[in-house]
Amino acid sequence: MESDIKLIDDNGKRLDGRAPDELRKIKIEVGVLHRAEGSCYLEWGGNKVMVAVYGPKEALPRHTQNPLRAIVNARYNMAAFSVDDRKRPGPDRRSREISKVISEALEKVILLEKFPRASIDVNIEVLNAEAGTRCAGLTAAGVALADAGIPLKDIPVSCAAGKIDGHVVLDLGKEEDNFGDADLPIAISPRTNEILLLQMDGHLTVEEFDKALEMAINGCHIASDIQKKAIMDKYQSAPEVK
Ligand code: UDP
Repeated sequence: MESDIKLIDDNGKRLDGRAPDELRKIKIEVGVLHRAEGSCYLEWGGNKVMVAVYGPKEALPRHTQNPLRAIVNARYNMAAFSVDDRKRPGPDRRSREISKVISEALEKVILLEKFPRASIDVNIEVLNAEAGTRCAGLTAAGVALADAGIPLKDIPVSCAAGKIDGHVVLDLGKEEDNFGDADLPIAISPRTNEILLLQMDGHLTVEEFDKALEMAINGCHIASDIQKKAIMDKYQSAPEVK
């Protein structure tokens, strides 16, 4: 059904007052769980996500082992209380899909060959969801992997752009996701801009797609700076990154 909700006002401001190319506020804490090898708590707008990394450890059951490299098991889970209508606990199609695409994105930056027969488990728990949880989860997972000391080519980072009321904008909020025209979540390796994940919901013209992709890459770089600062704040002896 057509929605009457106006997502951008006459001054070009969005419902929460953001400009089209503005991210929601991001806050990252590193190493918050003491039983995990690495962990991260991340807030991105109203999203609240906890990530715990375990491993590398022997992959079990043994038939899952790869004799040449480690396997990555990302498990994305949305808490029952994380959304307005209570979510039925346990895995569903959506969480399996998100777990799969995040696992594949993380595999591209981890030096897997260093850990034959091992598994690296990445548990992503969404405690509060307000659109963009896969991006928040993947961004937190990158930090938790670095905190675990797992050798990485780069710290992966994720952000979405989309289209609302005919305008391409960065980082859709809840109403924008519900009533907007398109959502384009991506993840990149910020050092090289290699795309690690790209999904699309809705419709964009080729020009809109190019604009949204560029905007999402810029958003990734902003989030990447926040990741690096959070890691530096925890490991003060780390060399300074601009
Ligand atoms: N959502 C919900 N219940 C669900 C799944 C999703 O209320 O069972 C909401 C939640 O706020 C989520 C948003 O819908 O962040 C958008 O979901 P989508 O599948 O697009 O993934 P996301 O944007 O979170 O990566």
